[in-house]
Amino acid sequence: MRSTLDDVSSVEIVIPRPDDWHVHLRDDEMLDAVVDHTARWFRYALVMPNLTPPVTSSAGAQAYRARIMDAASVGADTFVPQMTLYLTPTIDVDDLVEGFNAGVIGGVKFYPAGATTNSDAGGTNLLDFEATLSVMAEQKIPLLVHAESTDPELDIFDREAAFLDQQVGPLLAAMPELSVTVEHISTAAGIDLVNEFDQAYGSITPHHLSCDRSDLLANGMRPELYCKPVINSADNRRALAAAATSGNPKFFLGTDSAPHPLSQKEARVAKAGIFNAPYGLQVTAELFHQAEALDQFVAFVSLNGAARYGHEPSSDELRLVRNDTLAEDVVEVITTAAGDEVRLFGVAEAARWSIAAV
Ligand SMILES: [Zn+2]
Repeated sequence: MRSTLDDVSSVEIVIPRPDDWHVHLRDDEMLDAVVDHTARWFRYALVMPNLTPPVTSSAGAQAYRARIMDAASVGADTFVPQMTLYLTPTIDVDDLVEGFNAGVIGGVKFYPAGATTNSDAGGTNLLDFEATLSVMAEQKIPLLVHAESTDPELDIFDREAAFLDQQVGPLLAAMPELSVTVEHISTAAGIDLVNEFDQAYGSITPHHLSCDRSDLLANGMRPELYCKPVINSADNRRALAAAATSGNPKFFLGTDSAPHPLSQKEARVAKAGIFNAPYGLQVTAELFHQAEALDQFVAFVSLNGAARYGHEPSSDELRLVRNDTLAEDVVEVITTAAGDEVRLFGVAEAARWSIAAV
């Protein structure tokens, strides 16, 4: 990671309660174990629909939202999950429009089939969904795209750029009224594409901002840094950090927090996904601090995403403090009621930063 946490400068910032515009809260015991880590500090959380089976109807989304609120024991007055539907060939467009207008559905997520965890219900080609996408454009329903080619001929580090070039660019050009968030941008190609089209936006994760593939691979293989799209080169990381810290309103925080049991995360064939909900804000704040851009932190975590999705910033506030001493009691692993352990990302940054409601 880029942080030099031995720098002891202390700073303090107060921001409207931030939003997480891309999070996996899972279900059952895992949901119970992880939801408070999102509900504690975030206002809106755009909750991904890739359960098994995926969330594909307003009723399914509403039921999932109720399970989330039941499972949360903090944030009762401040935490608002925004639900998403999984774009499949069988999605009922009338139900989608109704759910969106009722405020249940915040957007529709496209996964290329097979690209990541529970993505088998997705499509191979975005343009196959033209009928649904036209209605979404008319109704101003946001499309959220996992932009990663599944072409086995392509190098893993080139798959985001290829998918943007082959599918997202042509879609944006063909449907200028359709607003699209390119999720968890991992390359300069993603930044460039979002800047090129008026109706395009980008979410960026704390781990893609703060790590590159040398962190993943150079000093022992670190499965806790393995995610999709895979963390890319140092040059790409620099492009993401430059975009995030620039204040450009097209870019905002989506943690892509994605917990897996350690037994699957550190298995011989390891699952992709990083659990950063507990410390994602601290990791992001440290990145902005190191970039001498803390004045833009509020735009990235509290303002830009809210504006993109049509919301005012929260009137509630958080105070983040970079302390001159390191906390020693930072939790590194949590355990679900089913006995599964989950490793937390960002422990070093969490030792340096503290957060409190104002
Ligand atoms: Zn995700």
